[in-house]
Amino acid sequence: MTEGNVTITERRRKTRNKMYRYIYDSHVPVSKQQLAKEMGYSLPTVQQNITELLSAGLIRPGEIQKLTGGRPAVGYTVEDGVRYSVGISVSSTNIRMLITNILLEQLAYKTIRIPVFEESQIGRQIADELEVFLKEQKIPSEKILGVGLTFPGVVDLEKDTIVLSPTLRMKDLSLKNVREPIPYPVFIANDSTSGGDAEWFGLSPEERTENFVYLFLENGIGGAVFINGHPYLGSQRRSAEFGHMCLQPHGRLCNCGKKGCLEAYCSAYRFTRDLGISAEDFFAGLEEGNAEYRALWEEVLDYLAIAVNNLRMAFDCNVILGGLVSGYIEPYLPILREKAAALNPFESDGSYIRLGHYPTRAGMMGVAGHFTKQFIDDI
Ligand SMILES: [Zn+2]
Repeated sequence: MTEGNVTITERRRKTRNKMYRYIYDSHVPVSKQQLAKEMGYSLPTVQQNITELLSAGLIRPGEIQKLTGGRPAVGYTVEDGVRYSVGISVSSTNIRMLITNILLEQLAYKTIRIPVFEESQIGRQIADELEVFLKEQKIPSEKILGVGLTFPGVVDLEKDTIVLSPTLRMKDLSLKNVREPIPYPVFIANDSTSGGDAEWFGLSPEERTENFVYLFLENGIGGAVFINGHPYLGSQRRSAEFGHMCLQPHGRLCNCGKKGCLEAYCSAYRFTRDLGISAEDFFAGLEEGNAEYRALWEEVLDYLAIAVNNLRMAFDCNVILGGLVSGYIEPYLPILREKAAALNPFESDGSYIRLGHYPTRAGMMGVAGHFTKQFIDDI
């Protein structure tokens, strides 16, 4: 094939890709006329690409309901079951799994308790549980794009290890041993980085090119930084370890062994491990006016406001809250915004503090989305 042919082929692929993405981002069926008008292509070009996408099983016909009534028009929408992705989150007490379709919609979810976390067995354990889960959900293995795993720790892909995980109380876990027993392509990432990726997927195509900081509030605390829509990873891939920013010198002991970190003040452990209750029970008690819970929550909000304000000062962009704790914050968001704004000489309100789309399953969605994104890029 000559260079000219390669260019033509690649240009055609790019057109097809753009058209697929337009249909993907529309969420409702779109007509050929709309595609031609909005994308600036001729009707024959649209027709040719629609035919190719239909025969590849990537889209299917769908009805466009008319506001004025009458017979619905024919449009096209994404074939959501063309491929599936799996997201798995590993923590010290359980393995959580979900399956998504190509639209990154959750189709199934499962939690498996693991009584003891054994480093040497974790890959085998995941592989076995995954096969059971896929069988239960009747997902054909040939349609699985890949399996994403998140760990609460510093993941070094070059050294192929999890360098350190204070939450799992573990150092230098070989990723090769985790990956090997799993019979699918595997992608491994830090849980909070993946949570940020999931939020990025949840944004509109225009918003995906903006800056934002993601603060992930679970048993561990981490985050992600997106500059012009791209993740900023840092020189040693340790950027956004917000949980270990020191907010109180000589303060509370943190999981990392240092004192006064954000994580020591605002992690979900403050309710689950310290009080021995679930986050759900804590917030129910708080609603009912439990004085002990109220004092604790007030302290959590004070430190969270400091952290969020520091992020705003450093990055000058929206701060999106995600993870388990964020799922309960909505009623307290006005107070948090007020507390953060009071610390900031430039801001009159805290409207830059937003809640994420995925409070509880963000990390899993993010790693599952890794494969979805790759698949769409290659269309
Ligand atoms: Zn720490």
